[in-house]
Amino acid sequence: MKAKITFLGTGTSHGVPKINCGCEVCASESVFDKRLRCSILVESGGSSILIDTSADFRAQALKYKIKTIDAILFTHAHADHLHGIDDIRAYQTKSSPPIKCFGPPAFCSDVKKRFSYIFLDKMPIGGGTPRISLSAVSQNFEAAGVGFVPIPVVHGQAETYGYRFFNAAYIPDVKEIPRESFKKLEGLDVLIIDALRARPHSTHLCLNESIEIVRTLKPAKTYFTHIDHEIMHERESESLAKLGLNIEIAYDGLEIWL
Ligand SMILES: [Zn+2]
Ligand SMILES: [Zn+2]
Ligand SMILES: [Zn+2]
Repeated sequence: MKAKITFLGTGTSHGVPKINCGCEVCASESVFDKRLRCSILVESGGSSILIDTSADFRAQALKYKIKTIDAILFTHAHADHLHGIDDIRAYQTKSSPPIKCFGPPAFCSDVKKRFSYIFLDKMPIGGGTPRISLSAVSQNFEAAGVGFVPIPVVHGQAETYGYRFFNAAYIPDVKEIPRESFKKLEGLDVLIIDALRARPHSTHLCLNESIEIVRTLKPAKTYFTHIDHEIMHERESESLAKLGLNIEIAYDGLEIWL
């Protein structure tokens, strides 16, 4: 085994159930229809690498008993993927080194504006602050002993990456995969990719678009993630199974091994 992936959250930016929604999926009692905001934990060789500090990070860290974090990769600066960043303080002591963080260049400038207090030279009196070292990446890099390949994708206006590691790729927010990035996704054992809902969306792949990508890339196994409240897990899983493409709808708490 090279790595274990835990799906900490598989929901779209609102999460599922969505606040103030009474639709059948939001009202569903199935645990498979309860989705925190998108994030995964990659464990390999004794290291724990978090991809995105979701808006639900605190709940995820408690639910999945995350003991340590050795590095954090960010896909982009949308709130659902970033706004749990303050809670990484729980993994630091006064003497521990900053947690190494990596993301696209635009992400790095956005986070410095939005969370400027994290980057002050002097820690404010009376307030604990996460301590991170932030690196903008555009080429292959190593984080906590694991090699990662940034996969630039189109997702509205936000500069956004997926990441390839070992023989897996994680691309939670994407509308289009540019040709250069497509080449970096050949020969995958596991593809984890955005499939928001059946209806088209301006910045996310919908089910049919994601299925087309699977037909072209032919990964051995695919998990759909970043799911909204228009997808009922059980019903959609049954129709995907009929395609014979080895696609599953991911769910919170799902663990897979590479
Ligand atoms: Zn998102
Ligand atoms: Zn709903
Ligand atoms: Zn996004």
